[in-house]
Amino acid sequence: MSTKYVFVTGGVASSLGKGIIASSLAKLLQARGYKVANQKLDPYINIDPGTLNPYEHGECYVTDDGAETDLDLGHYERFTGCPTSQANNITTGRIYQDVISKERRGDYLGKTVQIVPHITDEIKRNIKLLGSKGEYDVVITEIGGTVGDIESLPFIEAVRQLRWELGEKSVLIHLTLVPFLNASGELKTKPTQHSVKALLEIGVQPDVLVLRTEHDLNAELRRKVALFCNVAPKAVIQSIDVSTIYEVPIKMREEKLDEIVLEQLGLPLNSEPDLEKWKKFLYKLKNYSKEVRIGLVGKYVELHDAYKSIVESFIHAGAVNDCKVNIEWIHSEELNAENAQSRLKDLHGILVAPGFGHRGIAGKLVAIEYARTNNIPFLGICLGMQMAVIEFARNVLKMEGADSTEMAAKTKYPVIDLMESQHDVTEKGGTMRLGAYKCELKEGSRAFEAYGKKEIMERHRHRYEFNSKYREQFEKAGMVTTGINPESGLTEIVEIPAHKWFVGVQFHPEYKSTVIKPHPLFVAFIKACLS
Ligand code: GLN
Repeated sequence: MSTKYVFVTGGVASSLGKGIIASSLAKLLQARGYKVANQKLDPYINIDPGTLNPYEHGECYVTDDGAETDLDLGHYERFTGCPTSQANNITTGRIYQDVISKERRGDYLGKTVQIVPHITDEIKRNIKLLGSKGEYDVVITEIGGTVGDIESLPFIEAVRQLRWELGEKSVLIHLTLVPFLNASGELKTKPTQHSVKALLEIGVQPDVLVLRTEHDLNAELRRKVALFCNVAPKAVIQSIDVSTIYEVPIKMREEKLDEIVLEQLGLPLNSEPDLEKWKKFLYKLKNYSKEVRIGLVGKYVELHDAYKSIVESFIHAGAVNDCKVNIEWIHSEELNAENAQSRLKDLHGILVAPGFGHRGIAGKLVAIEYARTNNIPFLGICLGMQMAVIEFARNVLKMEGADSTEMAAKTKYPVIDLMESQHDVTEKGGTMRLGAYKCELKEGSRAFEAYGKKEIMERHRHRYEFNSKYREQFEKAGMVTTGINPESGLTEIVEIPAHKWFVGVQFHPEYKSTVIKPHPLFVAFIKACLS
């Protein structure tokens, strides 16, 4: 079967949840037996979000093949369980970079290189790339930004051309907002009409309208929108606010989004979607018997999206443990020896988050010392693991001023040091140790207990590592290496066996937790917090 294409655009306002709608549709089609891939096109000029401050764009998500991507790819993976890759996230920057290097190579010799057709052709090539492998029945491409933005114009133009070329083989879903005006007690459809008009002006007719709303939309309102926007009345559906994003696939099923899309693509409905496991998860999410309070210590806590995958991992791990995980957001810059006791004493567990640079480091060390000395379950991720090593060096091994060379290049005790492979790296973009690497676990360790196997694959994003020169000293004092990369010998996990549950991981387990397969380390961490 040749691949069919679904495009998802957004109008009226940003942050309406295009990524969640795209993921939910993917889930529903997958549950009907279709092979689906999600893709995101981002209109910014950065080659990827790897060099962006999380305050700008939330978390940077990392794929198995080491692509630094938009956080929507995390949703795609968490909903469908299908790994994404470099090909699933394309930015304007990447498109231009490729076109410009082709120009330099002489591929367009004699021609004036222009937005149309050269940039739009490159966009179309990237959209079709996923489909061309023949692995997928449906490719769902989400266009970042809001219709009407200057930046997203070339993407929409490429979609217009592609839809023309594909004929019946594509569907365009446009997501908009129907605001409720309190003063008049009315739901307003005008912004949707204007947004569809903006699409029509550039030659694109949506097939399905998903209206984000806080209140149920009646048949009358839907008919009105259908009439003004040239869309079939049954293809005007609502996306009502729900308490968890994981309910959206169920809501979209109720609204028959999957049926509408399959019909328009000319694909058989197959059997009813099998959402058994999904519903079981949702049930557990809402019917828990216990609660835990976990302190998430980081420097971007004002913006919860900066730690998106960690938050979702806690939701998944909580559900299997029959427990609701309440996150206490702790700003590492506000934590110090004086307030540690009052800020941390009511926590059942502490997670120290990944990060870069100096800011907030002192607070992270305070949180780790508190967890270690008070026997509070601790999970340190990436920088959080490195800080656990530094805290142990300073306070247990009495290595005064022990540090990471990232923070103190001239430290006497560089217990965390730049990886060998990083010594000659000067450029910042895409040059970290990125993507999935093998790790061998030590039998009997907490990590081994959690994973239940000896060999694992986890995703990385860092430049620094535990300095193996100090391994023996650490082991003798009670912090042991329990996970090692079999090829490079790098320390990937440290633990304190004498502690209730103290695990630091150099990799990012949060990128691999999904609804159907919650991450074993998060599951074990929550279990320890409950005991
Ligand atoms: N800054 C640290 C490093 O580069 C940790 C990175 C992270 O937490 N992702 O090694």
